[in-house]
Order: sequence, then structure tokens, then C-alpha cells
Amino acid sequence: FVQIRHAQKAFGQLEVLKDISLNVARGQIVAIIGPSGSGKSTLLRAINDLDPLTGGEIWLDGTQVNKSLPHRQYEKHINQMRQEIGMVFQHFNLFPHMTARENVTMAPKMLKGLSNEAADALAEEQLQKVGMLERIDYYPSQLSGGQKQRVAIARALAMKPKLMLFDEATSALDPELVDEVNQVMKKLAEEQMTMIIVTHEMDFAAAVCDRVLFMDQGVVVEEGPPEVIFKRPEKERTRAFLRKHL
Ligand code: ATP
Ligand code: MG
Repeated sequence: FVQIRHAQKAFGQLEVLKDISLNVARGQIVAIIGPSGSGKSTLLRAINDLDPLTGGEIWLDGTQVNKSLPHRQYEKHINQMRQEIGMVFQHFNLFPHMTARENVTMAPKMLKGLSNEAADALAEEQLQKVGMLERIDYYPSQLSGGQKQRVAIARALAMKPKLMLFDEATSALDPELVDEVNQVMKKLAEEQMTMIIVTHEMDFAAAVCDRVLFMDQGVVVEEGPPEVIFKRPEKERTRAFLRKHL
């Protein structure tokens, strides 16, 4: 469903991704773990081409995301693809001058031409799902970090994406707010949303993910089901990382 084939990324001389391949089946949830600077965010951002690869291919549901096209056609293609890929970052990137409702309805109105009524119904549905319906007319500045992050998830879901990417969605949150966001992600998992999750939370990864990928210095050192990666990893590098983080 999602295929990353021989992904390579260099910033000048610095090779950040060195031949990474990954397949994610529909409905599967993959966690990416690894030390700071190992290339996790770069890989995630390459999937929707926010950070274009210098080599390799990204495919989603039979279509190549980073295919080579003349500039104007490529813009159109990539905008289309990005509608199908929801992304939630560490730092809540809600539009500060818009309420939760407006944050959620903006893209569906602009990109899918939804009427005000249809967009409102969608906002209510999605905010309900993340437990934020009571705050629908609040501005981001009036929300806690966990609440903002839940609105960000609702906003991504409103586009009905085929794939959700999370880049340390909880790591900027106070510990007591982490769980409310994790609960929303768990619920998505139960609904068979295909997800790739970069996380430092090993317990969460173990509980929710089908597979765990350990990255270090731009390569996948080891991957497998969480019970293998967390309990009996083969590689010394994986063990050393987990000793520090479990
Ligand atoms: P963290 O856990 O700290 O978020 P990460 O695994 O997400 O780390 P990346 O952000 O993907 O790591 O960065 C991987 C490497 O790429 C780092 O060495 C970083 O300095 C480098 N890098 C990232 N973006 C750029 C850029 N725009 N220009 C140059 N180097 C970059
Ligand atoms: Mg990162």
C-alpha cells in the first residue's frame, strides 16, 4: 500500500538516508524509532515530498508520489497526493487566527469545494471523534497542547487521508497530556487507518504498532514485530539504543 523503494537523501555531502526500503500494508501501523539525527523526520517528510528524496521512489496505493513530471504538472500531482496523506508534527501547526472549526474546515472547503453546511458537519464529526466537540469555536491559544494536537489530528482526518504520518506528535506535550493524544491514535489504529509513527515512546509503539523499524545514521538497522524488536533484538546497536530508552 505504501512503498518506499531505495530512498536516498543527501544534504550536500551529508547522506541522511542511505537506501531505505519499507512496505506498509493497508491498515498496518509502523513505528519508526532511533536516535536523534538518524533521519526519521527526513524519511517521513519525504513521503509526502515536503523534503524531496535525492534517489528512490515513494508509492501510495499504486501511484508514485515523487514521480518525475514537468513542473506545473508536478505541482498539481503533488497537491493531489498530499490530500491523501495526513501529517501531524511535534509542534502543533494549527492556524492561530482560526478556531478549531475553521482549522478543520479550511482545506476541505478550499480543496474539495465543500459547502459551509457540509464543512461544518464534517468539522463536528471529526472534532467529536477526537473528543474536542465542546471546544469547536475555541482558538488554538485557548487550548492546551494535548487539545491542540487533537484538533491537528481532526484537521488531518477531515481530508479523509489514506495514510497518516505522525512525527513525535506527543513529545512536546506535558506528560499528563500525552495519553489523551495517544488514545486518539489508538482509536485510529482500531479503525484500521494506515499509519507511520515516529515516536520516542516505546510503550506506545509496543502496544499499538504492527511493526517497529529501528533507524540509525540513515539506515534501517533492524525491523520486526514489537515483541521481537523490544524483547529480543538481534543487533547490538538496537540493544544499545533500547537500553537507554526503555
Ligand atoms: P530527531 O529524533 O532529533 O527528530 P531525526 O531522526 O528526525 O532526529 P532528521 O531530522 O531526519 O533526524 O535529521 C537527520 C539528519 O539530517 C541530521 O543530521 C540533520 O542535521 C540533517 N538535516 C535535516 N534537515 C536538514 C537540512 N534542511 N539541511 C541540512 N541537513 C539537514
Ligand atoms: Mg525528527
